[in-house]
Amino acid sequence: MSKVTEAESKKIKEIYEKYRKQGLSKQIAYIKTSEETGRGRSTIFDHINQSSIYSITQSSSVSEVRPDSARIISWDIETAPNLGWCWGKYDQTINNYEQEWYMLSWSAKVYGSDEVITRCLADYKGYKPMSQDDSNLVKELHALLSTADITVAHNGEKFDIRRANTRFLLNGLPPPRPYRSIDTLKVAKKYFSFNSNRLDDLGQVMGLGRKVKHDGFDLWKGCMMGDAKSWEQMKAYNAQDVLLLEKIYTQMRSWITNHPNVSLMSNMAEACSVCTSRNLIRRGFHYTTTGRSPRFQCKDCKHYGTGKWERMTYIR
Ligand SMILES: [Zn+2]
Repeated sequence: MSKVTEAESKKIKEIYEKYRKQGLSKQIAYIKTSEETGRGRSTIFDHINQSSIYSITQSSSVSEVRPDSARIISWDIETAPNLGWCWGKYDQTINNYEQEWYMLSWSAKVYGSDEVITRCLADYKGYKPMSQDDSNLVKELHALLSTADITVAHNGEKFDIRRANTRFLLNGLPPPRPYRSIDTLKVAKKYFSFNSNRLDDLGQVMGLGRKVKHDGFDLWKGCMMGDAKSWEQMKAYNAQDVLLLEKIYTQMRSWITNHPNVSLMSNMAEACSVCTSRNLIRRGFHYTTTGRSPRFQCKDCKHYGTGKWERMTYIR
């Protein structure tokens, strides 16, 4: 598919606006605009939402922040439930799977950029209600994750990463380019003692916001049935999760003692390893059994870091 020119991008927006003014939902307007322009739904979505994912999937060197700054991607996925037969209501063993889970949507945000990129099954060409084909959705996520130096997800190491990997494998994709992972659920459990470590509860107790309220299982069902309004709600829900996640990560990051060294990844010498600020202050030494390293504190994010270790004695 040829690249979308600036003139065409303008045209896409005009056509989309025309359908929105006719009272059509966003989802339907995307579909109509896609039909009228002959461009894929995700392309339409990109141009309406000024998304940068197209440049991401087409070249791997795009970064919104600085050309050489580390890419930190916060993300979250939503999946369809398994469908199976059972004989009762409680403590059931499912003997027969009618249908295994698949990916419904994902949402992601590059640290330092303002936009949240959200995709769902219905955004892709050829989508039909009840469709379980998540190949295009999964491919785009694979491309995006492959641009990350660090990913941030809540319960990501048990859920999102493994679930996404499962769909990558089953869709014939290789492993994404390796990235370092920060799991905010693990961080919450390791450094703090909240009454609840759920994203929604953390958001509330930290005063950072809540998750979007939804109709529970009906929303998932609505999406699977192809209801445009449900898809819109699912995307809004998914996107808010990522916004909240990034806020929680930002509040907690200075506490993470083994945080990946962002300044190193960003090719910045003598900068805070968490936020890359050069606004550092000396705070005595960090001692090990046989030596010490100068200790610094970042005046911006308040993270404590250390400099070069020096042996002070051979006797221990
Ligand atoms: Zn810092």
